[in-house]
Amino acid sequence: MAELTFVGAAGTVTGSKHLLTVGGHYLFVDCGLFQGERAVTALNDAPLPVEADDIEAVVVTHGHLDHIGYLPKLVRDGFSGAIYCTPPTQALMQIVLEDAAQLQEEMARRGLEHERTAPPSYYNEGDVQRTLRLVRPVSLGTNFEVIPGVRTTYHNAAHVLGSAFAALELEGKRVIFSGDLGRYGRALLYDPDPIGTADAIVCESTYGDTVHPPDALASLKAALLDGVERGGVMVMPAFAVERTQDMLLAVAAIQRDEPRLKSLPVHLDSPMAEKVDDVFKKFPEAHKPIPNDGAATPFGVNDFSLAVTTDESKALNRLKGAHLIISASGMATGGRVLHHIHNHLADEKSTIIFVGYETCGTLSYILTHGAKTVRLFGDTLPVRAKIVNLSGFSGHADRNDFARWFSTCTAKPHLYAVHGEPNSAAALASFVKSQFGWSAEPAKRGVTVQL
Ligand SMILES: [Zn+2]
Repeated sequence: MAELTFVGAAGTVTGSKHLLTVGGHYLFVDCGLFQGERAVTALNDAPLPVEADDIEAVVVTHGHLDHIGYLPKLVRDGFSGAIYCTPPTQALMQIVLEDAAQLQEEMARRGLEHERTAPPSYYNEGDVQRTLRLVRPVSLGTNFEVIPGVRTTYHNAAHVLGSAFAALELEGKRVIFSGDLGRYGRALLYDPDPIGTADAIVCESTYGDTVHPPDALASLKAALLDGVERGGVMVMPAFAVERTQDMLLAVAAIQRDEPRLKSLPVHLDSPMAEKVDDVFKKFPEAHKPIPNDGAATPFGVNDFSLAVTTDESKALNRLKGAHLIISASGMATGGRVLHHIHNHLADEKSTIIFVGYETCGTLSYILTHGAKTVRLFGDTLPVRAKIVNLSGFSGHADRNDFARWFSTCTAKPHLYAVHGEPNSAAALASFVKSQFGWSAEPAKRGVTVQL
């Protein structure tokens, strides 16, 4: 009898890690880091239910840190099996993990381990390189053997470039792991593939209780116009992997139609931007045609500059007047965006524009939930900047996207709601019970179920 143990992303949105036990063999689906507040990140140090070297393979759904960020630690602890993912995810994994190792080493060097936003150091660049050598890329739609008795096929999930949901066949059953499910009608990504038949679905539930606001572009335009009118700096934390491209695309579209924003200087402060662009170019079949491809700047953004080096990044501090700085990380848990927030948070003319999900305990969560002061780099800063939170740009399915995706399932599976705060997970479980007549339950961390 196959068993599934929820090791991470159960009752929380980070640390995705699902342990499958089939015929005495072990494999993980996803292997992410816990991120956010100390009580959550402390789970990265909790022992796994089995030894790392007993795990034979990892099936990765996509290249975000909360789904792959634990891999180098697993390797450091003795894992030497195969890591499966799609070819674009393999490319993004290299960028994301190398950045994560650098960031951890840098934070450690600076002695910031005790800052709320600074993650402790779990691995170094050598561990990352050893991890990358274990990766076996598999294209969407290809059926492959993961471990004896378990076969898998990846299908498009529309969440981030290369993202896939994994359909596992084991002991005559078909078990779907959604990974992070994206949305229908995205600018750069194709719609999620249909589910087909399923006996069980391990489904993310980040926005299981929410419908995203309909016109994200209009709300961004309003925020930018307001920022320009107030004459200050606008700082937009955005994940370097794809979210940054989504936002540049949105800004370019707004600039084309709005004369008051045509000359708004846009500065992308990202050492990773060019690498991510290269991945988009390398895998044209994995995304829709790039709008305005071939323009001198990304998507034809006006007055664009790119800061790659640290000196170029620091030079942004000296700029005057209204301008937009886009920089990572998206939840302001680290990276260069922290410096920009540090520089501008106390200025009432400034605006901080959040465009993604914020998990509890992160600086983005604290700011979007009304903090009056925050501590950053040892300073206590008053929050005078305007804080804007635009959930309409989310790369995660909302209630309507889930309903559309579930309607492509030709069976009545049992659903385990993972990757959601307790309220969202419970809401998604009761939604599929009432609307689709499936059985469902929120997953609980540490609990083992029989498939
Ligand atoms: Zn993700």
